[in-house]
Amino acid sequence: MESGATSVLAEKAQPPLAKLAADAARLVPDIDAEEEPLYAARKKIYPQRVSGTFRRVKWAVLFITLGIYYLLPFVRWDRGPNAPHQAVLIDFPGRRFYFFFIEIWPQEVYYLTGLLIIAAMTLFLMNALAGRVWCGYLCPQTVWTDLFVTVERWFEGDRREHLRRDREPWTVERAARAVGKHSVWLLIAWWTGGAWVLYFADAPTLVKDLATFQAPFMAYAYIGLLTFTTYALAGWMREQVCVYMCPWPRIQAALTDEHALNVTYRYDRGEPRASVKKAAALHAHGEAAGDCIDCLQCVHVCPTGVDIRGGSNLGCIQCGLCIDACDAVMAKIGRPTRLIAYDTDANIKSRQQGRPSVYRPIRMRTLLYAVVIAVVGGVMTYTLATRRFDGIDVIHDRNPLFVHLSDGAVRNGYTIRVLNKTLSAESYVLSVSGLPDATIEVIGSEGSSGSNPIIYVGPDQSREMRVLVTTHEKLAPHASIPLTFGIAPAGGGAIANAADHFLGP
Ligand code: SF4
Ligand code: SF4
Repeated sequence: MESGATSVLAEKAQPPLAKLAADAARLVPDIDAEEEPLYAARKKIYPQRVSGTFRRVKWAVLFITLGIYYLLPFVRWDRGPNAPHQAVLIDFPGRRFYFFFIEIWPQEVYYLTGLLIIAAMTLFLMNALAGRVWCGYLCPQTVWTDLFVTVERWFEGDRREHLRRDREPWTVERAARAVGKHSVWLLIAWWTGGAWVLYFADAPTLVKDLATFQAPFMAYAYIGLLTFTTYALAGWMREQVCVYMCPWPRIQAALTDEHALNVTYRYDRGEPRASVKKAAALHAHGEAAGDCIDCLQCVHVCPTGVDIRGGSNLGCIQCGLCIDACDAVMAKIGRPTRLIAYDTDANIKSRQQGRPSVYRPIRMRTLLYAVVIAVVGGVMTYTLATRRFDGIDVIHDRNPLFVHLSDGAVRNGYTIRVLNKTLSAESYVLSVSGLPDATIEVIGSEGSSGSNPIIYVGPDQSREMRVLVTTHEKLAPHASIPLTFGIAPAGGGAIANAADHFLGP
């Protein structure tokens, strides 16, 4: 037999052309070999029940997030008369979005942009600090799939039992279990769709209308649509959504770095794998054996069927359940836990070089994300706190630009629009400043306060009116004097302004 050293020498002795030909032959694919199909059929996953720290965190997150989703529409919030009393409400007919004490108007959709920027930056920040926290704990797909898998276990048993049942022929008992499981799945899916529509109308009233078939058709249509999507995505498609449909795993791959905490198999400690017995034998002969006993418990509990020991993987949603599974195994065989743990690539490299572990949460990218969140959040808070519930717009007449009256006075005409964004009617006092001796006349005003006209505007309405401003002052030729129109609530309050010009002959 040719020894390794001889073959290396023979390879070195090859002339360059012959070596190139040999390399090319190695690179040309074997046309007889079976081609890998582009489509991989789904392998059904039977996640095993597990308990531990991360499982408890996931239960807590599941109860809190689903509790908020299902119950929030029923939380009441007193906003006074003429306003809805639902804490969170997307009021399309009233063109308002209510979130507790915050009220957003249609012309303020830029808040939505701000919220989207904050949401994106928060995701990036979470990713830079602790990997796919969103995917593993908070994503609706993860939360509902977790719930559906739990229901499945009630009816089909844990992994082994379920596997056995699926291999057996259909019986009445198996069919009854399947019917029970799908019925509960559909019930959850239906209530998920039902809860969604309650965010768009007064929840108690809509529940009554839905029950008595008096609700609008669209409410039933949306409940049907969301029932179907929840049932399909959480019941049937599960990990396929994360692996094939969701763009976030691809985006996060580009955002992560070696200092981000991720669920990691500590291969520096785990390899080479060996059973407890084999490891004892290896140690007896002075050979190395890692802590991984290759029991596959980490794979069996994984909801996406990933073997984390193969390294970071698109399918790994970083739920931490394999940490719980491996910790239980390590505790049973008396070895230190956290063979699988939240760790960083930088730490593993560090340990391999005999240096201590270091975790660096404050890095350029985490600082950058935090600053963007703080700035956008700060600007949104400030504009929300200082925004006005009324407003005025002014447009100068285009023709004529001015009118010279017979008594020598000059008059300019304007169209003003007064906005009342409150949910009650309001009277405003109109004033003008910047022009000495100016008189204002509003066509169709509701009286006056001294020499200032009063304008009435209905709740959540705007009103357009003609305004004439006249002066007897002697104006310079072709004068263009800056004017400021102001409105103030008749009962007192701050003034909203709009600027324009008074033009002379
Ligand atoms: S490999 Fe571990 S962390 Fe990743 S999805 Fe599976 S169980 Fe969750
Ligand atoms: S659970 Fe732990 S010991 Fe078992 S195979 Fe996974 S990493 Fe190895």
